[in-house]
Amino acid sequence: MKALQYVTVGAEPEVREIPTPEPGPGEVLLRVTAAGVCHSDDFVMNNPPEQFGIELPLTLGHEGAGQVTALGEGVRGIDIGTNVVVYGPWGCGNCWFCAQGQENYCSRAAELGIMPPGLGAPGAIAEYLIVDSPRHLVPIGDLDPVATVPLTDAGLTPYHAIKRSLDKIRPGSWTVVIGSGGLGHVAIQLLRYLSSTRIIALDVNDEKLEFARSVGAHEAVLSDDRAAGNVRRITGPAGASLVLDFVGFQPTIDTAMAVAGVDSDVTIVGIGDGKSAARVGFGISPYEATATSPYWGARAELIELIDLAHAGVLDIATERFSLDEAPEAYRRLAAGTLRGRAVVVP
Ligand code: NAD
Ligand code: ZN
Ligand code: ZN
Repeated sequence: MKALQYVTVGAEPEVREIPTPEPGPGEVLLRVTAAGVCHSDDFVMNNPPEQFGIELPLTLGHEGAGQVTALGEGVRGIDIGTNVVVYGPWGCGNCWFCAQGQENYCSRAAELGIMPPGLGAPGAIAEYLIVDSPRHLVPIGDLDPVATVPLTDAGLTPYHAIKRSLDKIRPGSWTVVIGSGGLGHVAIQLLRYLSSTRIIALDVNDEKLEFARSVGAHEAVLSDDRAAGNVRRITGPAGASLVLDFVGFQPTIDTAMAVAGVDSDVTIVGIGDGKSAARVGFGISPYEATATSPYWGARAELIELIDLAHAGVLDIATERFSLDEAPEAYRRLAAGTLRGRAVVVP
């Protein structure tokens, strides 16, 4: 089968011919119908693979949708032919976090060598994908896999980040969303659906700001060194009740902290350079503001998102690429010229 693999550190990923996998005991084989391209892949490919315990070559893609085509020994509860999306942050299934469905915070994954597809295990940007357990599949019925696959990360990660702060974003409050790309444009829609907070989106050019408005942002502000002041002019002295930073470099984290109000949540989702940090301290950060950095989301939250997709409340912007064009999707991602999510259709 064909797969997009990250082969050489520092080089672009390559489309290669590799053996089609067969499901082992307990595993499920999917024929991939769609796979999303996430900025985190770019971060991973720009860092030494040892840092993540990843072995090369690695088939990329941690957002996957597919059709069940074969079941490993002992697999029950899912039928061949079912259209599904994949819950990516695989865990052990048995620890306390996994028992809550929060496999993203599995306390035993590292010890057991469990890694998400595309971030250690072979990923979804391929013709076929092995999923380690039917527990990690969510049926999508007749939903379009291309529009649905971004929900597994570009949807799930902001959904989790917003849900944990819902009590903060009371009617009339302001929420600041920094970066309206793959994750950010879903975040804006989720905020509109889940609350009556008013949204200020930040991004780097007029086209991106227009995109943010088109998906529901009330205001859009250029993310430059005057951004904090410009946001404060809109919010007034109370500042924002919730700030979601989908970029995570020092300048955006500093902006996030500068626009945050008393008792707010500053949620740093973007990985940035992996070294940037929020400054928290008496007289430095707003009183009782909480800064946090969540990772992905829970299984139940993905099921909720698929229900929301069936309800038709989300409009996910996608740009399609064939498997042969997948390296170009990563170029466009790095150049910042995508509108919404790049999705590879093998
Ligand atoms: P993306 O490239 O689709 O979107 C990023 C957006 O940020 C783009 O619109 C870009 O123009 C904008 N941007 C860039 N620099 C900016 C700046 N200085 N100020 C304002 N906007 C700026 O990326 P994505 O796939 O949506 O991922 C966003 C971030 O979230 C990445 O860092 C990614 O690694 C991270 N991520 C984290 C998790 C998690 O679990 N914490 C999950 C998925 C992705
Ligand atoms: Zn991701
Ligand atoms: Zn676990």
